Amino acid sequence: MSMFEDIPVDVGVVYEGERIRGKEMQFEFGGPNIEQKFELVQARDMKEITDGKVIIDGPDLKDLEEGKSYPIGILVEAAGKEIEKDLEAVLERRVHEFINFVEGFMHLNQRYDLWMRLSKGSYKKGFNTLEYLGKVLIRLYKSEFPIIEKIQITFITDPKKVSGWYKKALDIYEARDARARGMKDEDVEEFYGCVLCQSFAPSHVCIITPQRISLCGAINWFDARAAARVDPKGPNFLVPKGELLDDVHGEYSGANEVAKQRSLGEVERVWLYSMFGHPHTSCGCFEAIAFYIPEVDGVGVVDRGYEGTAVNGLAFSTMANQTGGGKQVEGFNGIAIEYMRSPRFLQADRGWNRVVWLPSNVKEKVLDAIPEELKDKVATEKDVTNTAELKQFLKEKGHPVVEQWPAEVEAEAEVVAEAGYEGVPSEYSFQLPAGIPVGVPGEGFQLVFKNVKIKADKLIIRRKEETKRK
Ligand code: SF4
Ligand code: ZN
Repeated sequence: MSMFEDIPVDVGVVYEGERIRGKEMQFEFGGPNIEQKFELVQARDMKEITDGKVIIDGPDLKDLEEGKSYPIGILVEAAGKEIEKDLEAVLERRVHEFINFVEGFMHLNQRYDLWMRLSKGSYKKGFNTLEYLGKVLIRLYKSEFPIIEKIQITFITDPKKVSGWYKKALDIYEARDARARGMKDEDVEEFYGCVLCQSFAPSHVCIITPQRISLCGAINWFDARAAARVDPKGPNFLVPKGELLDDVHGEYSGANEVAKQRSLGEVERVWLYSMFGHPHTSCGCFEAIAFYIPEVDGVGVVDRGYEGTAVNGLAFSTMANQTGGGKQVEGFNGIAIEYMRSPRFLQADRGWNRVVWLPSNVKEKVLDAIPEELKDKVATEKDVTNTAELKQFLKEKGHPVVEQWPAEVEAEAEVVAEAGYEGVPSEYSFQLPAGIPVGVPGEGFQLVFKNVKIKADKLIIRRKEETKRK
């Protein structure tokens, strides 16, 4: 590729799915070890920026120690007659794609969850300055978006400066998210879609509506609309609503058709407001996971930043492996934090009335969206550490899920071994206490026993019927 002759490594679509493991990395930016990191695109006036300029504010790659993690801020400033504020979010989301084109560079997630790794191999080939990364980004942006007339990129690596910018970035994300609040799905003529994540999750299709922001949290209905207008051949596109088939589950014939077509037949139906039945697919960059807790017939939500294990005994990363990849996984649903503010949030599954556990920082973030009477009834890691304690907590607080408990849940059994809660996939008919994934839909069958004593009146293990296996 002549366009990148002066870059010491290759650049191209073939590198997009490349994973760089801990052992192979020279160093990393952001990720779980680093609290403050961000990527941000800002629309500017033509006079404000210098086209093609790359600024490195702080230590450069050659100054960094092998194997370590560092804070970073990526600020992309773009100008042009047609570049408006509306386009910032979608231009920003492309940082992910473009950086992944670089051989030996891995970029995961978005916004304040950003995580990048550079491989030892590429570093040895001479990729030792962020100047190269800036050049690649500038060229890819200009070739993909001819409406960009000027573009300038700043890499902020000085921890103090990252910190200052970080707060500004959070305010900007919040202002974007706030825009779609109050708008209703029934108020718009059409929805939008995104397939940017198909490089990692080939059957994943995001259906973006005013009341269901994309699961990465980075693209709302306005953003996707703006992108589909300026770049109709790009990853964002219009989704005709078609016929409203089910208002409670959020099923539209138009969304079904588009999902089917764009997933090459993998996904036939999508329920926008449910994590059971035909849930929205999950790629890998969801901000949080809504997960079913069979022991209490409730729903928990765990976010990417949460360390340790959730109330079901599983860490975010463990659940992410089960949830992601572009499948429809009943009982596990990748979501954006902002979706929890939507009046349509899991409405078919009883919405907030079903939510029983959240990490305390997430609860704080969305507290104003939790119905007043439920605020003290949703447990966090500070209240309970396992499902037995959770059950007790919910009973004491009178959480609405308790009324729905069938006799089996009420009974003090060490193993809940009977099926039949409404809306629960059959794979959950056998459940062990916290920490043991059993029969994840779409995954065949897996039993993992670690340090457990089992006492059960009845144990039912069913082989899953004909499922596609590799
Ligand atoms: Fe697009 Fe959805 Fe991926 Fe976000 S999660 S980049 S909206 S496909
Ligand atoms: Zn994704």
